[in-house]
Amino acid sequence: MTRHAYVIGAPIGHSLSPYMHNAAFAACGIDAAFESVEVRPAGLERWVTNARASDVLGFNVTVPHKETIIPILDRIDDEAARAGAVNTVIVGSGGQGLIGANTDIVGFRRSLKLEAGATLRDQAIVLLGAGGAARAIAVVALEDEARSLVVANRHIERAQRLLADLANVRHRTAIHAVDIRDVVLVGALHEATVVVNATSVGLQSSDMPVDLDSLSPDALVVDIVYNPPRTAFLRAAERRGARVLGGLGMLVYQAAASFERWTGVAPPISTMRAAAEGVLRGA
Ligand code: NAP
Repeated sequence: MTRHAYVIGAPIGHSLSPYMHNAAFAACGIDAAFESVEVRPAGLERWVTNARASDVLGFNVTVPHKETIIPILDRIDDEAARAGAVNTVIVGSGGQGLIGANTDIVGFRRSLKLEAGATLRDQAIVLLGAGGAARAIAVVALEDEARSLVVANRHIERAQRLLADLANVRHRTAIHAVDIRDVVLVGALHEATVVVNATSVGLQSSDMPVDLDSLSPDALVVDIVYNPPRTAFLRAAERRGARVLGGLGMLVYQAAASFERWTGVAPPISTMRAAAEGVLRGA
């Protein structure tokens, strides 16, 4: 029997996940197929109910469902609970039901470690954005003992809610929420040793979430937007002399972690990455 896995969200047409996962299923000799499905908020509960089928391995969850899916699931694991966001659902065997997980956390941490040789330990971090992806990165900052974390968002209430929800993570990090337009961010960017763009600004555009005129040349700047692979934000950081890291690595490592949760098999990272890069190059 061919098994199935999915990514659900709206919009979903841009997703690279089918390419990465189908390449990995083929490379691992697993009889399974991965598809993207547009699911709008009004249809989420019904779609999730239908996913409790025996041929479904699991599914990824993207914008706008990462937080709202939580009450519909049977349980979520500890990391998803810490983030308050789910990007991966496993259809558990033996009546375990639907289990929510968050592989953005390990995806971000691995990309930072393996591609930039860095961790967030003792870093002064400015995190731009307070959506589902920012929640995962904030968890990494706190778990890995960052010195400070400033979460800057267009709607400041969302940044404040993110920080309030992190009360269940034991940490020693100084945390603040600011409006992304607030002048205090200029000083925070100057002090920052790591800046992460986790807004959707720059996705298939040359817009920037903030300007980087006050950025220190010693900073590491990460943009989790992966299309284009080198965003205007990263180009501006390079002009300031900073080190940069794009979002493709996080995408590949989160996908690999989801694949392993569904199948019990560690997929070939290079195969998944080549599949994603091929699509981005328009191959
Ligand atoms: P999300 O939950 O919808 O959050 C979007 C974030 O972007 C919010 O903080 C939002 O601010 C902000 N934003 C949107 N438009 C803005 C604008 N014009 N000006 C300022 N801020 C704006 O999305 P998400 O899941 O966190 O994803 C965010 C981005 O990360 C997307 O581009 C996604 O493709 C990328 N991503 C990459 C990976 C990876 O593996 N590399 C993984 C997950 C996501 P408000 O709250 O004020 O609206």
